[in-house]
Amino acid sequence: MLDSLIERAADLVRESRRLVVFTGAGVSTESGIPDFRSPGGIWSKYDPDDFTIQKIISDRAARRSIWQMGDSAFKDAQPNPAHHAIAELEKIGKLDCLITQNVDNLHQMAGTSGGKIFELHGNMREAVCLSCRRRFSMDEIRQRVRSGDEVPECSFCRGILKPAGVFFGEPLPQRELKEATECSRKSDVFMVVGSTLMVYPAALMPQYALQSGAKLIIINLSETPLDHRASILLKGKAGEILPQIVSKAKQKLFKESRER
Ligand code: NAD
Repeated sequence: MLDSLIERAADLVRESRRLVVFTGAGVSTESGIPDFRSPGGIWSKYDPDDFTIQKIISDRAARRSIWQMGDSAFKDAQPNPAHHAIAELEKIGKLDCLITQNVDNLHQMAGTSGGKIFELHGNMREAVCLSCRRRFSMDEIRQRVRSGDEVPECSFCRGILKPAGVFFGEPLPQRELKEATECSRKSDVFMVVGSTLMVYPAALMPQYALQSGAKLIIINLSETPLDHRASILLKGKAGEILPQIVSKAKQKLFKESRER
């Protein structure tokens, strides 16, 4: 059963003209970064209220605890076979774009080019000043925190610094959102990997694709609200399933090119 679904997914990838891949926290759990909503996920350890932009702005203690979370799980994480398989899709000319909700930089580390990636929720590689919008490398800011600067401020204007990941209540980066929306609307195959599809407006992307008639592939461990709309629904680990799909699609494309 799983084999035939993988085979069909590989066919869709091979036939696609505009394949969009959409990833959530689940693509990175096999790299050791917990997702938000699974048992043992981030929300079972931290209070989501501490991650609102209002709290960051108004409460110095909240800022201290954000920075005291220490060198986060993101720091030493490495891409897993799912990230590499997505990077491979670009190499074989089959990736129109990658829309990610993740902030961990693992897609870039796996080799997907920056120009192909829309980071809808920002990233944790950098910190940003809420006053002058200057950006700083996260390594530099974390070094300051380790040296005793508990609540680091912008070194130019003394404004509030926060990680450049989008916090609750903060607007999404508008250019990324607009371009990701356009790509989703134009896609003919839309592949969701490791997302509950519960976080908006990101979760609108597969809905836009479906409205335009795209075929939907979902690879996820738990249920999503769009499971019933999927042409192919693969319940399992992204790091096991995705490399098989990409390898089969490659074989099929190779065979096709030899037959021409
Ligand atoms: P989520 O936590 O709501 O859902 C993750 C989904 O992935 C779940 O349905 C789970 O069953 C599935 N999953 C977990 N491991 C999997 C695996 N190995 N293979 C396939 N599926 C797997 O995550 P979300 O939908 O991305 O939304 C939550 C928010 O979490 C996003 O805004 C994102 O910015 C943020 N987030 C990002 C990271 C990261 O950057 N790595 C980590 C945690 C949370």
